[in-house]
Amino acid sequence: MQRTVGALVMEHIAVGLVEGEKVHGGLNVYPEGHGSSEALLSMPADAIADLIRRQVQAVSGKEKIGAIGIGFPGIIRNGVVEDSPNLHQMKGFSLQAALSNALGEKFAGVPVRIFNDADAMAAGIAATRGKLNKLFRVWTIGNGIGFGRFPSREGIWEGGHSVVTLDPKENFCGCGGKGHLEGILGRRSMRLRFLDLEPEEVFENARAGDARCKEFVTLCHRALTAATATSIHMEGPGTFFVTGPEVRFIDVGLLDRLLLEMVKMSPLQGSHFEVVPTSDEIGIVGAAVNAAHASKT
Ligand SMILES: [Zn+2]
Repeated sequence: MQRTVGALVMEHIAVGLVEGEKVHGGLNVYPEGHGSSEALLSMPADAIADLIRRQVQAVSGKEKIGAIGIGFPGIIRNGVVEDSPNLHQMKGFSLQAALSNALGEKFAGVPVRIFNDADAMAAGIAATRGKLNKLFRVWTIGNGIGFGRFPSREGIWEGGHSVVTLDPKENFCGCGGKGHLEGILGRRSMRLRFLDLEPEEVFENARAGDARCKEFVTLCHRALTAATATSIHMEGPGTFFVTGPEVRFIDVGLLDRLLLEMVKMSPLQGSHFEVVPTSDEIGIVGAAVNAAHASKT
């Protein structure tokens, strides 16, 4: 079976060699270990592309590679990062062309495909569960909030920027838009809202009974449920997976209960949430599966 390379760029860059629906061998991760998740924020676009290139070459070794898939945060179209609210320097960057040109002779003719990171997670969950024929919708919770869908379909799907409140004071989203889900639930926006507390402390204080933090934790869950309800009202019911570096903040029981209040029409009943522990492997497999599929069509 031909091997593919998958990469997932979220808080860090993780790259692996994929065979079938499994990562073969170890992952190449930057920054290594528990390095700062801020490392990519200030890095120029060229340097990020160069890091990915070196990691792809490192995991490939002497293997013959069929396709390369990269999951990257933001609006991705035709290999170009059209916008990336948490990696502003990538706006307009042609990541696919930069990688194809730099990978060198060994990779000549190997298709490189770029996908939204949350779409890669959705594809990875579908592939690892052996259900490539079903609709999978995924929320990724991190600095930003990603919305992924498998099978991927033409469109923008920036569900993390769904408007979930009309309160004009809700203006913490990295994209600058008011009332966005990411402006409430994204790690970056939590830090702007609670200048005196880290997000972990906010959730700890809420558990200990602090009124301000409790109110905020409820708001977070209502916001995620509201965006999910919108997706149900547009595309129908189903399972919504929740994953990403900050998924530990999420109480799926509370989301399920809130959803019952927000979706009432009988044909739209039956949705629920499921947590998938965050894993680079799933996103890497998803990016690789999507790339292998896209390069055949
Ligand atoms: Zn936004």
